[in-house]
Amino acid sequence: MRVTFPHLGNAYIAIEALLQGLGHEPVTPPLSTKRTIEWGSRYSPEDICLPFKTILGNMLEGIELGADSVYMLGGWGPCRLGYYAEIQRIILLDLGKQVEFVTLEVPRGNWGLARERLRSIFGSARIRHLFRGCQLAWAKLSVLEEVENLSLQARPREKERGSVSRFLEGQLQKIRLAQSVKTLRELKEETEAGLQDLMDRVSSHAVLRVGIVGEIYTVVEPFVNLRLEERLGSLGVEAVRTISLKEWIEDHVFKNALGLYNQNSLLRSAAGYLHSFVGGHGLESVARSAELSGCLDGIIHIYPLACMPEIMAHGILPQVSADKQIPILSLVVDEHAGETGFQTRLEAFVDLLQRRIYQCQDGRKYI
Ligand code: SF4
Repeated sequence: MRVTFPHLGNAYIAIEALLQGLGHEPVTPPLSTKRTIEWGSRYSPEDICLPFKTILGNMLEGIELGADSVYMLGGWGPCRLGYYAEIQRIILLDLGKQVEFVTLEVPRGNWGLARERLRSIFGSARIRHLFRGCQLAWAKLSVLEEVENLSLQARPREKERGSVSRFLEGQLQKIRLAQSVKTLRELKEETEAGLQDLMDRVSSHAVLRVGIVGEIYTVVEPFVNLRLEERLGSLGVEAVRTISLKEWIEDHVFKNALGLYNQNSLLRSAAGYLHSFVGGHGLESVARSAELSGCLDGIIHIYPLACMPEIMAHGILPQVSADKQIPILSLVVDEHAGETGFQTRLEAFVDLLQRRIYQCQDGRKYI
């Protein structure tokens, strides 16, 4: 099958390897652009959240490139994610797109449907290829997250503006082409060494560290979050990710399917602020903000307009900010988000953090 799928940051690199292992031909849609959102928005319910529109745009662009199947993650819970796949399937059908739409989700008791889906996913894959594809995909996901995290540390310390992003882009394409776990290990080491060379290690400037919490798609997808991590890096700030796709898959797919996943540690961290799961990453946003406040200079909470779980978190975070004495900036994005206003708010926030640290008694000076 010629399979297309939605983008989620750089995860397409691992997804391509997985699909090849399954014996399919991946049809990777172009990286999300204004056209993606416009196309997705044209056929989406008007007030649906931004990830839905962007993902639908990815699907349409993948079909345009010749895909005959669409793979989409399913979900459940109090927010709209559980309806995404089904609504998108109906929209594509209404538009006359002749594609097989496969929703990947944990069976939750419906084993008949799960068997049918697995048959279509695994197709003619040979066990040996399948195992190799899964192993390679997992290794790619791990390495790409590691090099992305390393680049977050390097970017605010780079000697030449933009050099880290350019280098990272090249390394990601090498990871995309890698065909063995050994090569991936070597690439990770090569990236580590390359980033070291790009950093200014004699700078007297300390670097602010800002955690990013919020709705997973918005946090991970650079087009949707207006390249937030890069913007922070060029303002001299180290962005600290609190969301890992690899961890999310381990928790929500593997552990959840085996009944081993629970949210006790999140609930403990969010105690006094939020006492239950509210869908999406709402609980995580509150828990991580409370947890990490001691080791960060500030927190940015980013989410799409009308995202129910994050609206709840947004109502709670001012209290976390006051109790933990940490500035928290909330950023809401939708298809009309403008770069200028976004950049101005970031600059003002970073300025506030710098002044705050400058006034601290701990001796750290930023200017
Ligand atoms: S978490 Fe928010 S953005 Fe994501 S599907 Fe749910 S409501 Fe929409």
